[in-house]
Amino acid sequence: MGVRGADQAAVHAYAELVRLSRERALLGSCATLLEWDEDTIMPAGGIEHRSQQRALIAGIEHERWRDPKIGELLSIAEASALMDDPLSPEAVNVREWRRLARRNEKLDRTLVEELARTCTLAQHAFARAQDADDYFLFAPWLDKVLLLKRLEATALARGDAGAYDALLDEYEPGVRAAELEILFAELGGALRPLIDPLRSSEPHALSLLGPIPVDAQRRLLERATEVIGFDYRRGRLDESQHPFTASIGPGDIRITTRFVPGDFTEGFFCGLHELGHGLYDQALPVEHFGTPMGDARSLGLHESQARLWENVVGRRFSFWEYFFPILRAEFAPAFADVGLEQFVRAVNRVTPSLRRTRADEVTYNLHVMIRFDLERRLIAGDLSVRDLREAWNAAYERELGLTSRGDREGVLQDGHWSAGMFGYFPTYALGNMIAAQLFEAAQRDLGAFDVAFACGDFSGLLEWLRAQVYVRGGQLSSGELVRAATGEALGPRALIESFRARAP
Ligand code: ZN
Repeated sequence: MGVRGADQAAVHAYAELVRLSRERALLGSCATLLEWDEDTIMPAGGIEHRSQQRALIAGIEHERWRDPKIGELLSIAEASALMDDPLSPEAVNVREWRRLARRNEKLDRTLVEELARTCTLAQHAFARAQDADDYFLFAPWLDKVLLLKRLEATALARGDAGAYDALLDEYEPGVRAAELEILFAELGGALRPLIDPLRSSEPHALSLLGPIPVDAQRRLLERATEVIGFDYRRGRLDESQHPFTASIGPGDIRITTRFVPGDFTEGFFCGLHELGHGLYDQALPVEHFGTPMGDARSLGLHESQARLWENVVGRRFSFWEYFFPILRAEFAPAFADVGLEQFVRAVNRVTPSLRRTRADEVTYNLHVMIRFDLERRLIAGDLSVRDLREAWNAAYERELGLTSRGDREGVLQDGHWSAGMFGYFPTYALGNMIAAQLFEAAQRDLGAFDVAFACGDFSGLLEWLRAQVYVRGGQLSSGELVRAATGEALGPRALIESFRARAP
């Protein structure tokens, strides 16, 4: 029945909730802008002050959705005809607002502020420890973050799921660790036997070609992202140590990457990854900004778009049929003696490596599973911060047969835990599965994309994704969306098949 059938009190309550939700989102977007600044151009001396700014905003944001008035307004809306159609924007928003209110009720403002402050400082300490290649410079900070995250998890899990599930819920609502374990067991079991047949014996041809100036790398990435569909009138591309996407608000979506002179693949593929996040956010329904309908529902969905553009599209032969001549012109005289086939083989090279962000598509998922296992043990208290480095290195030996060359290539390579993001890593592997499912379904609906890609036309795929994923905003969970778009349950089948198709 929706808004028209609802009584006046409910309509007013809902309108007031929208107003309060938008206000809260505006505050949140100020924090996002601060984060962008912090990770791109802020001088190191600003960190202490920044940690206080972020703590204050986090505290106010939290308090805003904890007010008893919110609960009253939600009860009025929930008892009305606004909820009749569960997929209407009103019903979706009210459900998600209630979820957030329940979550905030369980947390003290002091804890929320302390987490924001500590994580800001911990990220800074993490970067210093990375520079020094010394995990034990960071370990005391990880201890502090972990202590706070355990308090948060325990408070959230009260009478509900396990502590780790409570953290996972922030990124992938409704999904439990036990379900992920089943999916990952199936995926891991299928991937491990594929590594050897797919392992490439040819040397990494691309790194033999000498340094490529960062300016040329940047021009190539700007060209590629623009051709694919990133709108630079409503977005930016900057550089940062750890690539990320900051969605400041409608009309201002910022992506970053990290250019390395000795190997262009780092900046380029990280850039395509963030492009995927950026395309999603640029296409979210503006009319719903500041409400759950105007935001992606799950990080697994968001990561699926990052991984889709980075890998499924960005490492495809037809993608490079179009972009390789452009790359050659930009990077000349480098790559003059490299053929298209050799180049595409090199960017698809499968070989176990120490770094997640540099990993090939097949072994990447094993990197995720290692982190999923370690972070669960950290939260459960079964693994101490002191023993983490050893556990990390042992896992890499066991899973990928690799010995760490130092902490920067090992336990200090990902900043997620320093930022308090426990429960985030599994969304990358979920994203890989979803990306494979969506791409397969898009080609089933529209036919093969390769002829268009080879001409630099990505609009068919982008439009399909806009309609099936981006404009839906927060309407569906990842499982519901995958089913609606592909007719199949979320799972590893399509991803595994895409790898098997490559094996000799
Ligand atoms: Zn991502």
